Amino acid sequence: AKADGRGTYRFFETGMDARAQARRLLEMDLRAAVQRDEFQAYYQPIRDVASGRVVAFEALLRWNHPQRGLIAPISFIPLAEETGLIVQLGEFVLRSACTDATSWPDDIDVAVNLSPVQFKSPNLIASVTSALAASGLSANRLELEITESVLLQNSEATLTTLHELRAMGVRISLDDFGTGYSSLSYLRSFPFDKIKIDRSFVSELATREDSMAIIRAVTGLGRSLGIVTTAEGVENDAQLELLRREGCTQAQGYLFSKPRPASDVAMMLERPRLR
Ligand code: C2E
Ligand code: CA
Ligand code: CA
Ligand code: CA
Repeated sequence: AKADGRGTYRFFETGMDARAQARRLLEMDLRAAVQRDEFQAYYQPIRDVASGRVVAFEALLRWNHPQRGLIAPISFIPLAEETGLIVQLGEFVLRSACTDATSWPDDIDVAVNLSPVQFKSPNLIASVTSALAASGLSANRLELEITESVLLQNSEATLTTLHELRAMGVRISLDDFGTGYSSLSYLRSFPFDKIKIDRSFVSELATREDSMAIIRAVTGLGRSLGIVTTAEGVENDAQLELLRREGCTQAQGYLFSKPRPASDVAMMLERPRLR
């Protein structure tokens, strides 16, 4: 590239074009994928730490791309959120999760992630109501996972929606706890049913004293407030043992199983460890 300002500018512009074009292609691909039914809900078991029993499955979205294979959400959820397509995808996951859960033992719940963008859509309550009605799943078997960023935006309307969902019998979990700016204050803004301790704290449990202290504080907080605590990203027995010692209620992670398709749920229930 030329050293003068103009050359640099044009080079930069070309770079922007390439990126914008890649984004447009992905967006077109994403829209077509919604039409072509290329999305699938995968499920990861969540176990009660004390009994070892599976108490729930978390639904995690996957894109089965005809050329690129299985695509993880990190590669398409941000764009789906920017373009609003997450609303349709979110409805798809909700319907799949509720329908799939009706064939599981009825003491096993299903957890679904909600994007902050879904809270900006006026249809959220209606789509939860219709997913429950269409599947026949009882509302108390559905957990909705939200992150702190949901509470940052338009919080009055968001709180009203959360209270309405709660009134329907649906439970609300605070996901990725500890990664935001003021996690503790969010616990005061809404009576969450569950706190999900972010994976970053669990992965450093054995190596960092401060992670251990944070886990201890959060599980203690859960106990005092009567809120279930779930540790995410549990990958080994040492982590599970420390969590058990701290009285963490539930654990989820590769130690038990990676997320798998609905057809593997029976297998995940039979075998406590499945890599
Ligand atoms: P999340 O809600 O925090 O989900 C947990 C993520 O951690 C999942 O990644 C899961 O596969 C991964 N994970 C679970 N156990 C372990 C472990 O032991 N070790 C490691 N290294 N990772 C583990 P995944 O499926 O790639 O999803 C990433 C994120 O994408 C989710 O984070 C969630 O924020 C978002 N997402 C996934 N599905 C949906 C969806 O249906 N709707 C919305 N709005 N977001 C979704
Ligand atoms: Ca989650
Ligand atoms: Ca999480
Ligand atoms: Ca996350």
